[in-house]
Amino acid sequence: MKLLVDIHTHLDHSLLINKIDEIIDRARIAGLKHILTNGINPETNRICLELSKKYDIVKCAMGLYPRSALKKEIESGEYPLKVADFDVDEEIDFIRKNKNSIVAVSEVGLDFVNGEDRQQIEDFEKMIKLAEELKKPIVVHSRKAELKCVEMLES
Ligand SMILES: [Zn+2]
Repeated sequence: MKLLVDIHTHLDHSLLINKIDEIIDRARIAGLKHILTNGINPETNRICLELSKKYDIVKCAMGLYPRSALKKEIESGEYPLKVADFDVDEEIDFIRKNKNSIVAVSEVGLDFVNGEDRQQIEDFEKMIKLAEELKKPIVVHSRKAELKCVEMLES
């Protein structure tokens, strides 16, 4: 028996959410058992949670994408989201409260395309600790930061 699971999607993305029923139908027809949708900030963490409650095939992961990299993606229009400041510790509390609804802490990591970033390192450290506390796997985003990511995960 084959078991197909798509472990990395962003179903909240405006290009996908607008035709979500069609996407879910196609996934079922293709034989997918589950689709993991990954939150990247407070806005998308909540959308991913809603999607996982609405569609049995969808599983939720909540995370914190490297903030400076996300800001650039939002500004360029690549990822059309609201730009909003938020408190990371409050978001971690939200994830903690919803631990029974998530299968992973994701998407988290480091993105040093525009240089090393102290805030990203602090955030990633917190998310690694959260994953350990919740006993969940993590899905790591890494661009130009592979060595640092591995060092942090090993420690
Ligand atoms: Zn991703």
